[in-house]
Amino acid sequence: MNMSKTSWKLSEAPEGADHIQLAKRYELFINGSWTAPKAGTYFKTINPATEETLAEVAQADKDDVDAAFKAAQAAQPKWQALSGAERGKYIYRIARMLQERSRAFAVVESMNGGKPIRESRDIDIPLAAAHFFYHAGWADKLEYAFPMRKPQPIGVVAQIIPWNFPLLMAAWKIAPALACGNTVVLKPAETTPLTALLLAEVIEAAQLPKGVVNIITGDGQTGALMTAHAIPQKLAFTGSTEVGRKIQEAAIKRNKRVTLELGGKAANIIFDDAPIEAAVEGIINGIYFNQGHVCCAGSRLFVQESVYDKVLLKLKRRMDSLYLGDPLDKNTDIGAINSKSQLETIDRYLKIGQEEGAEMYQTDCELPAKGFWCKPTLFTHVAQSNRIAQEEIFGPVLAIQTFRTIEEVIGQANNTPYGLSAGVWTDKGSKIFQLTSALKAGVVWANTYNKFDPTSPFGGYKESGFGREGGVHGLEAYLRFE
Ligand code: NAP
Ligand code: MG
Repeated sequence: MNMSKTSWKLSEAPEGADHIQLAKRYELFINGSWTAPKAGTYFKTINPATEETLAEVAQADKDDVDAAFKAAQAAQPKWQALSGAERGKYIYRIARMLQERSRAFAVVESMNGGKPIRESRDIDIPLAAAHFFYHAGWADKLEYAFPMRKPQPIGVVAQIIPWNFPLLMAAWKIAPALACGNTVVLKPAETTPLTALLLAEVIEAAQLPKGVVNIITGDGQTGALMTAHAIPQKLAFTGSTEVGRKIQEAAIKRNKRVTLELGGKAANIIFDDAPIEAAVEGIINGIYFNQGHVCCAGSRLFVQESVYDKVLLKLKRRMDSLYLGDPLDKNTDIGAINSKSQLETIDRYLKIGQEEGAEMYQTDCELPAKGFWCKPTLFTHVAQSNRIAQEEIFGPVLAIQTFRTIEEVIGQANNTPYGLSAGVWTDKGSKIFQLTSALKAGVVWANTYNKFDPTSPFGGYKESGFGREGGVHGLEAYLRFE
């Protein structure tokens, strides 16, 4: 058989198949079947690196949202009634199938989202599978996680996710909800629906009972219809702080439980006793991983004054070596910006930064003619009050400031409306301990950055949201106690 001439349906692509075939059109996954949207409306989803259309995707309207929640409601008592071990078997099956199809998932994640294949292959997809494995293990141990507290599922959950880690965010939402006995309706972001739809194919192939997981596609309007619906007893949202406020209002109106994972503006702090080479790698990973489309991106760099010149020189050199280009090339470090509108937002901030008096440095790499791209960028001479130091840009843009003392940098680092994450680079354990308790951030990494693990709770302080995902704390968000 000549592999190069063979097209495989994505879910069946064997290892080594060199042509992955997406469907031309994707319907809604409701009650275990692929269902055409009632209004018959579809939208195009594109490859941001080429601007080519990848597939048409259904736009879920009021009736479709209603049908999805009714299916989840009908399925919930039966799902809850299964033993934890039975639920766990289904979740393990999803985890294994994700691993088996990891190549197809990685390729589609990079084609639809713009991220380098190295990242989707080595980070996003394995972590998504790990999340299902981890939560499968909890399904029959909930009473050990919460002794004497009688954990019960909440019921039906509405889940809305962003475009920066499409499959991973779907896994973060669906896995704990299922382990705890809830049923779900999930909506991926408008620009990156494809891997959530492939996950629906996996869920279908894993033969989960009908209606336990429903995946519907659409835009913010579909999301608003979900949060306003009477059936879900909990809203789980990851996205911007602005939309998060609307979700919270919707939850209050109908007295629903809610968890919000929102934006960030993390401080990455380098002390003069840090291992500088490693710290420079940590700065690069902190801000240029996934083109800076990372809620916990280390977008504010604080360097102790005595090593500032040295760090800046090494950082610029390392930036110059980053390869920007085709997300499907395994040597690519910087892929495409996820959408035209996100590129416009980033470009607006590049202008604002210069107008505010900061000095901009960009690498002089060539940008492809088609698609949405931004050169790795940093700003020096940044003031604490500058908008580029206060507002989330969500792109490959770093704002650098200096500090002299530990007290000074704690004040600077905490001086934003956000509090999702932070990084500390130092040789001294005592400084790490001092900072981890003083920084108002849900996650603080020490001598590393952007490390994720399903056992570790993740979430924010202040305008970065509330509630935790991952670990035992993440389970609690999908349970009520009698
Ligand atoms: P977004 O605009 O807030 O959208 C997030 C999701 O909400 C999308 O599915 C979106 O649909 C939907 N949505 C939009 N308007 C809605 C409404 N009125 N009601 C209900 N749903 C609505 O965020 P984004 O631009 O996709 O993602 C970037 C943001 O997510 C950043 O701020 C980032 O920091 C944050 N984020 C946070 C975490 C975390 O764990 N804390 C993780 C990743 C990302 P459409 O896409 O179809 O418009
Ligand atoms: Mg949006």
